[in-house]
Amino acid sequence: MFRCSLGLGLAALLACSQTPEAPPAVKPDAPETPTAPQKARAPSPFLKGQLHLHSNASGDSNTPPEIVAQWYAEHGYDFIVFTDHNRITNIEVPGEMLVLPGIELTQNTEACSPPPEAGMRCLLHVNGLIVDPARAKAIAAQPRPDTFDRVELYTHAVRVTEQLGGISMLNHPNFHYAADARVVGLVGRQGLNLLEIANEAVDSNNGGDSGHPNTELLWDDVLASGARVWGTATDDAHHYHDAEAVRARGELAFEGDRGWVMVRSERTGDAIRDALRRGDFYASTGVTLLDVRIENTVLEVQLATDSPGEHEIRFIGSGGTLLDRKQGRRAAFDLKDSESRYVRAVVEDDAGHKAWTQPLFKREGGRS
Ligand SMILES: [Zn+2]
Ligand SMILES: [Zn+2]
Repeated sequence: MFRCSLGLGLAALLACSQTPEAPPAVKPDAPETPTAPQKARAPSPFLKGQLHLHSNASGDSNTPPEIVAQWYAEHGYDFIVFTDHNRITNIEVPGEMLVLPGIELTQNTEACSPPPEAGMRCLLHVNGLIVDPARAKAIAAQPRPDTFDRVELYTHAVRVTEQLGGISMLNHPNFHYAADARVVGLVGRQGLNLLEIANEAVDSNNGGDSGHPNTELLWDDVLASGARVWGTATDDAHHYHDAEAVRARGELAFEGDRGWVMVRSERTGDAIRDALRRGDFYASTGVTLLDVRIENTVLEVQLATDSPGEHEIRFIGSGGTLLDRKQGRRAAFDLKDSESRYVRAVVEDDAGHKAWTQPLFKREGGRS
């Protein structure tokens, strides 16, 4: 398995990745990149975005960044953020789709505390999203903390992301069971912004097992602890046009357009970063919402017409409690008389695709 295979210290890798003579982003024999046509979509207040993807700058993908961007434009995305391992990929691509710089701060340490379970490794990954590439050199001078504590290592990546001017996302918590609710909650109190609840790579273990909760329940435990961390869906894609060939060789393919975010924002990197920070978005693996409305203590969701089939709308509260469930295309829940600290909605279609809204908290009367 190639994914997340780097093992050096973060500072060292940042230093490596920012040398003045960085290798060319595109192989000399790579095909020319045409301007990709945008896939037609119904008018929407939301931008479709990808927060986790890899190119050949990661070392574990064979696809040049320009071809990755073209692939996502062809799949109807409004913006993508490159998140190569310990390297800021920043390219300009023609066309309407925004291509934004990011990095997967990949701390694969030889040990960690609490220690990994049998057969597991310490793979602690945080995405720094929509960062300022000009700040990378200053960050490279910052050493990794002299600790194997998972919370401190994750917090270090959150601090690096802040210094890069980006927002932070804790990736695939159930991959090698890297982060449980206690760890995510503690890092959340240190400024972590986002948590992948649906990393759609094939080995992310989103569903958990008999000894580990699924990632959605993990998120509810984090929210119930008082941390404000918003949930995302992502691809963590490494394979694009080559996915079929990879499968034909009997290897695992990590493919795109499986999990994404829909962000209510203007089409600029700054506006998208702000909207992600305040939680004005929903996560999706295939269900499209027309609107998510918050009015005082009421959360209302409405399905878009291009999300066909039967749907169930579930309202979830503290610790994963089911507060209400409705069949149909529009539903609301009033938190006012509920015991729960928050309410969030998850919409599921009859094929198992989902959309997750961010939580509306009591007392504050809003998300932020
Ligand atoms: Zn990762
Ligand atoms: Zn990744």
